[in-house]
Amino acid sequence: MPAVEVKNLVKRYGKVEAVKGVSFSVEENEIFGLIGPNGAGKTTILRILATLIKKDDGKVKIFGYELEKNDDEIRKIISYLPEEAGAYKNMTGYQYLTFIAKFFDGKDMVEEGIKISKLGRRINDKIENYSKGMIRRLLLARALMTKPKLAILDEPTAGLDVINAHEIRNIIKEFAKKGTTFLISSHNMLEVEYICDRIALINEGKIIEIDTPSNLKKKYDAKNIEEVFVKVVK
Ligand code: ATP
Repeated sequence: MPAVEVKNLVKRYGKVEAVKGVSFSVEENEIFGLIGPNGAGKTTILRILATLIKKDDGKVKIFGYELEKNDDEIRKIISYLPEEAGAYKNMTGYQYLTFIAKFFDGKDMVEEGIKISKLGRRINDKIENYSKGMIRRLLLARALMTKPKLAILDEPTAGLDVINAHEIRNIIKEFAKKGTTFLISSHNMLEVEYICDRIALINEGKIIEIDTPSNLKKKYDAKNIEEVFVKVVK
């Protein structure tokens, strides 16, 4: 059974058809990337799978649970990190993770979260004093400390410097090795080669290719995924 099965997914915002019949599946333990330019429909797809907005058509199953029929079950096994996630700025990182852990039933969760965040002693500082990278690491820790079967991460490294982005990618790879399945979006075509097992290239609401980065580079005789994308879109 695949971790995620998406068949002919459609989403419209008024007259705009943001997602135009998209199909893909993600295997358990895979890091699967949705790659495409701004406005391609990535966030829309991820928000539908995270049970936050409703699809207009198509079928989605997450670990066998059908979206919109079994949303409660789905919410128990997924984590979603939005692109523009904010945290409660008046809290310290520690208070924030403790606050989130209360919704679940694990005290150990907070310790795990602190470890993932790699914030060290800064975990006791107020979030308002954190840099963008620190906030992102805290939010990623929040998303992963609940040990989701599927982590849905929207642009997990957007706007981060090289070191912070690298750390976040390593955390993702480490958790994938331990059994978490990842569905991530990115418009950074170089980063996806580093972390994704397979990628779906998406443009104007349609998937135009799905394969491993190395197969795609071979197929299009390209040096990198950016070059593949340009060749595919032309
Ligand atoms: P980005 O990389 O900029 O986040 P994206 O690939 O995630 O882009 P979406 O945010 O899913 O793309 O947007 C897909 C299309 O749907 C765009 O044309 C966008 O303008 C439109 N859209 C997204 N959300 C809404 C909304 N709430 N109302 C109307 N149109 C929307």
